[in-house]
Amino acid sequence: MTPLKFADVTVGKVIELDRSATPVGFMLPDATPERIAAQREWLGPELLDPATGNHRATIHSYIVRTPWHTIVIDTCVGNDKPRNGVQPWHMRSGPFMADLSASGLKPEDVDLVLCTHLHVDHVGWNTRLVGARWVPTFPRAKYIFARDEFEFWKKESEAGRAEYGLIDDSVLPIVRAGVAELVPSDYVIDDRLQLEPSPGHTPGHVNVRLRTKAGEAVFTGDMMHRPIQVAETDWNSRFCSDGPLARKTRRAFVEKHADADVTVLAAHFPVPGRIVAPGGKARFLPLAP
Ligand SMILES: [Zn+2]
Repeated sequence: MTPLKFADVTVGKVIELDRSATPVGFMLPDATPERIAAQREWLGPELLDPATGNHRATIHSYIVRTPWHTIVIDTCVGNDKPRNGVQPWHMRSGPFMADLSASGLKPEDVDLVLCTHLHVDHVGWNTRLVGARWVPTFPRAKYIFARDEFEFWKKESEAGRAEYGLIDDSVLPIVRAGVAELVPSDYVIDDRLQLEPSPGHTPGHVNVRLRTKAGEAVFTGDMMHRPIQVAETDWNSRFCSDGPLARKTRRAFVEKHADADVTVLAAHFPVPGRIVAPGGKARFLPLAP
């Protein structure tokens, strides 16, 4: 993605996995083939591969530079992490850090890391393996976790219910290193960036709002997994923890942002875009390249 500019703020992206192994109908169990087909006319080639019919999706981090901070939002899957053999997550040795360097960013340039929620593909590069220890990947950074989200997963982990031991290898080492900041879900980062609660996908899921004199954007994490959910707001992903709340949050978000001039940056959408609603029907419109 060509970095986006909002006045003195830039937004870039580093992709860890450039396609989803998960078909849309599996990812969104509420979907039916008929209703997926009915949305096809507005899903252009940036969103749906015309050759295969696959809905495009990626796993990526957003890199946000404000006058005061260099922030990584969501940290993908990470390398060397045991994930019960689940591919393509298990024991990866991908080039994410080299790709980050190629984008002009050294790990020590990052002063804030932020996870919209604590799922496996949003926390991975919080840590990297050095010898037998997990250490913070970004040595100068504070790591921001919404307190509600952290407390939920800490309890799940203690009860043995956090999958893959990911809290142990990707979250708790950050806390032990003394660089975690547990914050309220409406935390103000600086005069450009603020968290907003968006619960449902997980209990403490947050969006991140960017406001500048030259426009507005919102990082929406997994509130929506696939662009088709902009039209079908009642479709949850199979990973949403509270179905009714996830629907309510998604519906309210789409209504509020329909035809608003706000760039939507989701954690797995292949491109940034806006929500438009011609004839009252909401859809996702990629930004012009
Ligand atoms: Zn998620």
